[in-house]
Amino acid sequence: MKCVLCGGKTIPKMIEYKELEIPFGRFKAESCEKCGESYFDENTAGEIQQKSKQLGLFGLAKKTTVAEVGNSMAIRIPKEIVSFLSLKRGMEVTLTPKSKHDLEIHAGT
Ligand SMILES: [Zn+2]
Repeated sequence: MKCVLCGGKTIPKMIEYKELEIPFGRFKAESCEKCGESYFDENTAGEIQQKSKQLGLFGLAKKTTVAEVGNSMAIRIPKEIVSFLSLKRGMEVTLTPKSKHDLEIHAGT
């Protein structure tokens, strides 16, 4: 096939796939010789999505609202994300603004 991004030629290749830095294993893909972009066929994509659901990673991005607590604001973190990050009450986290619209929360060392 032709690469959608650069028009280069793709070759069959086994690709190491990760989601949220969790390794899923190696999957059959078509990989672009020029830019390295990889494409999975429908079956493989379905298999990956299935695994993502099993591991509770699928759809982990959630909407939440900002609440006011005294002089500061609090953001409720949905339980799926609490569980994924192993957050505990009283734990220290680091907040790093990444842009005017993005905030990174680092839990752990
Ligand atoms: Zn390409």
